[in-house]
Formats: sequence, C-alpha cells, structure tokens
Amino acid sequence: MQVKLLHDLVEEMAGEGNGRIVEILFRKKDVNEFLIAKKMELTINQVRNILYKLSADNLVSFIRKKDKRKGWYIYYWTLNIEKCLEKLKNSLAGKIVVFEGTLNSRETKRFYVCKSCDIEVGEEKALEHGFSCEECADIYELSDNAKPIREVKTGITRTKKNLVLIQGELTIVKKRLETARKRASNKLGKEKKAKMDLMKAARAAAKKKVVAKKKVVAKKKVVKKKKVVAKKKVVKKKRTSALAPSSKNTSLASKLREKLSGSS
Ligand SMILES: [Zn+2]
Repeated sequence: MQVKLLHDLVEEMAGEGNGRIVEILFRKKDVNEFLIAKKMELTINQVRNILYKLSADNLVSFIRKKDKRKGWYIYYWTLNIEKCLEKLKNSLAGKIVVFEGTLNSRETKRFYVCKSCDIEVGEEKALEHGFSCEECADIYELSDNAKPIREVKTGITRTKKNLVLIQGELTIVKKRLETARKRASNKLGKEKKAKMDLMKAARAAAKKKVVAKKKVVAKKKVVKKKKVVAKKKVVKKKRTSALAPSSKNTSLASKLREKLSGSS
C-alpha cells in the first residue's frame, strides 16, 4: 500500500496536517478514537471531525462500544483499504486529466506575465487590457512556456506511475477480498447444508419415533395380554408352590423322623 499517497489524499480531503491519521490506522483494525487523539495530540472532537470527513467517502468504517464505566460510546476506526485505493485511483486519474489540460494549453496558447506583480494571464485577458498589467499598468511580457511544460510533463509521468502502482494494489486487494468473500459464503453454504442435513435427520428421527411409539403401543397391548397370561401362570404356579412348601415340610419332617428312628 502506498501509504504516502494515501497520506496526501487525506491531507487534501481533511486538511493539512491530518494525513498523519493514515499512518496511525494503517494495517490496524478497530483503533480506539481516544488513542488516535492522543497520538495526534488533538481533541476527541477534532479527531472525529477528520474521521467523519473520511467516512463520507467510506474510507474509514467504525464500530462502537459502550464504555461500561462511563456510560458513553467509544468509536473504533478501521481504514477501508479497498475504498481508499479506489478513491486514490480516481484522484490520480483526475490529476492526470488536469495536467494534460494544462500541458495542452501551454503547448498551444500564449501567456503573459507582469514581472513586478508576478501575475500571469492568458492571451485574451492580456489583449483586453492592452497588454499592460491590470494592477500596476506595467507592460506584460510573453511567458516562457518551456518551464511549465517541463514541470507538467514530470507531474504526468509521476502521477501515471503512481496510478499504475495503485491499480496493481487495488487488483490484489480486490482479489484477496473476493477470495475471503467466497470462503465466507462457502462456509455459510456448508453451515446451511449442515443445518439442513441436521434438520432432515431430526425430522427423520421424529418420524421414526412416531412409528416406534405406534409399535410400542401395539407391543404393549401384546405385552399386556402376555402379562395377563403370565400372571395367571404365576398365580397358578404360586398356588402350586404354595402347596409345595407344606409337602416339602412333610417330606422334611418325615425324613427327620426317619433319621431319628434310624439313629435310635
Ligand atoms: Zn503588475
């Protein structure tokens, strides 16, 4: 990222000396506005004014959190790199258009200058005033266009170079964001699918339960019948077993008796 270029852009947008905010926010996320104010040695309101100007073009975004102790909101700021690069790209392209307009008029038109007032005018205006200075009435001299042409050409070359850099960075950032978006939507899609699968499974399970319940109900009926039968059997058995102990007792008694008689 061409931090210096962005710095200059912010100076143009938010006033001289305010470009420093770029270096503070660059490569950071959710920067506390009080920290920005401290670093810039400005009041919180001055910092917010700068940031509001930048947020009008979406160059920065914020989240806010309530300070639990003080009860007011604190804003946390993040540079929107994609928007910054786009704005920078447009700004540089605009500058090139202006430079080329200047170059064209310097190459095709005459300009006149009053050397004592250091004021330059176009040919039309010079003609209007009879080629004498509007302020001091000195005679205008024909400007030498060579120097401004040279300067403008240098400006165009430099700005075009910067534009290529910014366009390159913008392509990279856009690609990165696109990948991140795709990944996020894929993840979302996967989550959605997982959720749907889960719901399907839950629905299927619920259906099975209903079927199972019906079966259980049917089984219970059978079981009841069986139980009744079984109970009857048990009862019958109980009756027999109720008799059994007495028979056992008798046999035991007789055995004892036998033993006693045998021993005696
Ligand atoms: Zn003059």
